[in-house]
Amino acid sequence: MKTYDLVIRNAEIHTMDDQNRVIDHGTLAIKGDTIAWIGQGEPPECAKTEREMDAAGMALFPGFIDTHIHIFQSLLKGLGADHRLIEWLNLSALPYGRIMTPNQHKLAAQLACMEALKSGCTSICEFFYTNQDAELAHACIEGMQSTGIRSVFIRVFQDTGEEYGMPTEFIEPADRAMREVAALKKQFHEDDMFTIWTGPDVTWSTTKQGYQTMLEYCQSEHVRYSMHLKETEVDNEMCFRYYGKDIVDLLEEIGFLTDQMLAVHCVNLTPDDIRRFAAHGVSISHNPAPNLYLGSGIPPIPESLKSGVNVALGTDGAASNNSTDMLETMKLAALIQKGIHRDASVITAGQVIRMATRGGAKAIGMEGKLGILEAGRKADMILFDPCHLKSCPNHDTEAAMVYASSEENIDTTIVNGKIVYRKGVFASGIAETELCRRIEAEVQKMKVLV
Ligand SMILES: [Zn+2]
Repeated sequence: MKTYDLVIRNAEIHTMDDQNRVIDHGTLAIKGDTIAWIGQGEPPECAKTEREMDAAGMALFPGFIDTHIHIFQSLLKGLGADHRLIEWLNLSALPYGRIMTPNQHKLAAQLACMEALKSGCTSICEFFYTNQDAELAHACIEGMQSTGIRSVFIRVFQDTGEEYGMPTEFIEPADRAMREVAALKKQFHEDDMFTIWTGPDVTWSTTKQGYQTMLEYCQSEHVRYSMHLKETEVDNEMCFRYYGKDIVDLLEEIGFLTDQMLAVHCVNLTPDDIRRFAAHGVSISHNPAPNLYLGSGIPPIPESLKSGVNVALGTDGAASNNSTDMLETMKLAALIQKGIHRDASVITAGQVIRMATRGGAKAIGMEGKLGILEAGRKADMILFDPCHLKSCPNHDTEAAMVYASSEENIDTTIVNGKIVYRKGVFASGIAETELCRRIEAEVQKMKVLV
């Protein structure tokens, strides 16, 4: 009987553990979906190995975790460019979200997840809000799973929002939405590779009753939840008009701020909000690209980290990012804070990689299973090859990864012990050029309808 399924040798292993250990010329052995051994030299009883990989010159890191994306927007790149959030939504995501077919959702999922895998991402959190037809969610899930990526599917709801342009077919009572979430959970098998959450889409599309109904469901069924929060000033404009208070005050009052919550964007967090996030264990998904692209602003990330808030990274929908590239997200996350603080040390390359790995693992409730390379954890990792024009020469691998890399540096992506991407080839068998050709044809059909 074989002892290991895959042994990777001669890698510079960045464990991202509490001591930030880097193992030179390290070996990592995988059995099934788990890291079985890590260290220097030979793993015990290594004679019987299914596959070996020589990683000389390369570095091994935990895979990145993209904690916020809207997959359908992968077919909408460039639409609504140069507009702020509400106008941009009404030019791109909302009109196209109304007409996209299940097949288009599936193709969008393959496009987004394949780009993610190719740029070092091993887990993705889909925030799904086009719920006018349950088939759309099914197609998106099918598309994600066909690529081999680890995923969270967040089936969200809107129970108001017409005045901001939310299409009426998206709007539903929260109790009906929770029944749909329960139905999805019955239909799809959940395990460490795939889980289903819910959440309110955004402040201006949710009533106070909606938050309460969702919270009751999540607490009774032990379901995690996520929402867009304080992305722009519109959140509080609506909240003050309807409820006479700040949205974070309202959420705290109804018991919504918990360690099961993943708050997305948080551009306009106040010091008091940060203090309460830390106290209640709320995680933040920081999405720098759309915050810049839509002119929303820059969230207080160093301040949140300093206060002990868990911060993860996300790409957000490709209509407000134009890509699903975590490497680009990491670079932006570092540079924008250095710039606005006028302090190059305010956030380091190592901190950014931690947000993309350990921060993500905690944000999706998998703190003990992902985010660190150590024996006993799930085998999600990437081989980073610095030997490319952009990143050559490599004086500091973490700096090279954050400041001087692109998808060409990702040699191999391993999810749950399986090689899902290696040297330009996807194990799913989905060919990149054929997928792009099919998507271009579908986009022509969409344009006629909008
Ligand atoms: Zn979003």
